[in-house]
Amino acid sequence: DVFQRIDRTEERIKAFVTLTREEALARAREVDKKIAAGEEIHPLAGIPVAVKDNMCTRGVRTTCSSKILSNFIPPYNATVVEKLMQADAVMVGKTNLDEFAMGSSTENSGFFTTANPWDTERVPGGSSGGSAAAVAAGEAVLALGSDTGGSIRQPAALCGVVGLKPTYGAVSRYGLVAFASSLDQIGPFTRDVEDCARLFNAICGHDPLDSTSAPGKQPDYTGFLTDDIKGLKIGVPAEYMGEGIDPAVKEVIGRAMKQLAALGVEIEETSLPHSRYALPTYYLIAPAEASSNLARYDGVRYGYRAEDAADVVDMFMKTRSRGFGTEVKRRIMLGTYALSAGYYDAYYLKALKVRTLIKQDFDRAFERFDALLSPTAPSPAFKRGEKTDDPLQMYMSDICTLAVNLAGVPGISLPAGFVDGLPVGMQLIGKPFGEGTLLRLAYAFE
Ligand code: GLN
Repeated sequence: DVFQRIDRTEERIKAFVTLTREEALARAREVDKKIAAGEEIHPLAGIPVAVKDNMCTRGVRTTCSSKILSNFIPPYNATVVEKLMQADAVMVGKTNLDEFAMGSSTENSGFFTTANPWDTERVPGGSSGGSAAAVAAGEAVLALGSDTGGSIRQPAALCGVVGLKPTYGAVSRYGLVAFASSLDQIGPFTRDVEDCARLFNAICGHDPLDSTSAPGKQPDYTGFLTDDIKGLKIGVPAEYMGEGIDPAVKEVIGRAMKQLAALGVEIEETSLPHSRYALPTYYLIAPAEASSNLARYDGVRYGYRAEDAADVVDMFMKTRSRGFGTEVKRRIMLGTYALSAGYYDAYYLKALKVRTLIKQDFDRAFERFDALLSPTAPSPAFKRGEKTDDPLQMYMSDICTLAVNLAGVPGISLPAGFVDGLPVGMQLIGKPFGEGTLLRLAYAFE
């Protein structure tokens, strides 16, 4: 079983914060019984799934890889976890992440770092690095991650697996520990596109517990898995193939484009003119929302509390300064600054306006194209420690993925080839609720 694999590899990869071996084996036995009794089972029944440790699991510690939540045991399940249980999937454990999902390498975890299974000297990407590494190393067949600015697609690219960031509102965020609520989405990590469609089927759909959950019924996404993609139109935004992208990565993407063209897809260069504002816009909006969302970790309501405080204010300060790591503190400071009276109009409000322009770029592009194509990340997996002292360099890892979250549209990363033995990901971006078209293209390409 998958735990034998975990026993052999986990020491080197360190994908998991918590393993739930006993519960998993018990559930697997129940599924076996159902099968033996001839009951009809769900396509995910008995399949080992890893869950990023920022999704609440009843009775199982949920840490966000933060010291401040290191002892937090939620009394309820996130909707996605509940749906996995209903499908009889088997959760094998909770995976490591950059603390509160802030980062691109999983090196901001408050506990330990995770290795890339293709080269353990390198990062798995982030922030869902644990989930990506677990699937790439065969420690789980499927995994869930969350993506606020690239945290599913970028680690999927760096670990050579499939990762889907759904349309904002397609998957319930209930029970996902909030980072930037207007950007966060949960999505699947899988080895291939068919699994991706099946896992997405299982987790998507309206949820009354999430006020931003999209109403209506979603289709069966396996229905889109056909090899016929003739006549579909793909735009390649010039801004995503320019400066800052490793030439070797561009070459791999160029070959992928030829492959798609050979399948009858029409490929044309296009432009998303506001692309260069995506990074500054994201790094105002995401920290602003984060600073508000993280205000709840005050030592009173959840998790860690400094016990040696003189009074309540001292307790808040000691709890937060010990409980949060450097990157989280940086974001709280950026966010509170951007939201403060006197700066709100100049920074936060301005960022919201630019966000609309970025969204309109996509609207315009989708009048002509069925999907857009780009590299997922500017380079293959980088060395551990290489970017930890330079936050801006780290932020640049997401230049191809951030705008997708700002626009709320779906994006998928697919393994497209290799550079020096390291996987390279190709990103396909779709119309709102156009996951079907993305999966169709992805399936034919794979
Ligand atoms: N790397 C980006 C950040 O640090 C995106 C993270 C994410 O998608 N959760 O904010």
